[in-house]
Amino acid sequence: MDDLTKIPLWEWLPIFGWRIVAVVDAADNVPQRLPRNGAVLVGSPTRPKWIAFDCPCRRGHRILLNTDKGRFPYWTTTVQGPLTISPSIACDDPVWRCHYLVRNGRVRWIHERDQASSSVYQPKRSGR
Ligand SMILES: [Zn+2]
Repeated sequence: MDDLTKIPLWEWLPIFGWRIVAVVDAADNVPQRLPRNGAVLVGSPTRPKWIAFDCPCRRGHRILLNTDKGRFPYWTTTVQGPLTISPSIACDDPVWRCHYLVRNGRVRWIHERDQASSSVYQPKRSGR
């Protein structure tokens, strides 16, 4: 196996929140297996091109997000410490309908219902 894809042993312990566990130079070098809550940066820590991780729904699909500001859409991500990715991550694939935020190492699921209710503007009734 390529040395760049080596994930330190302790990173496999299931005690961490979401964070970056490795940086690889090409998308092909992202390891097949990733630790729970572990994401891999492709590129360099200062100029990441992609962030790859297994979807927190645990149904076994991999997420690959563009982090290169030269291409759209792109996501911004923290490199060290608890992982924060913005904006939210949405899979529109009919098989994998997943929509969530990664904030401070934790996943917050966004449900269609919540989304709908928060985006609907409801004017306040005044008087009668
Ligand atoms: Zn998913």
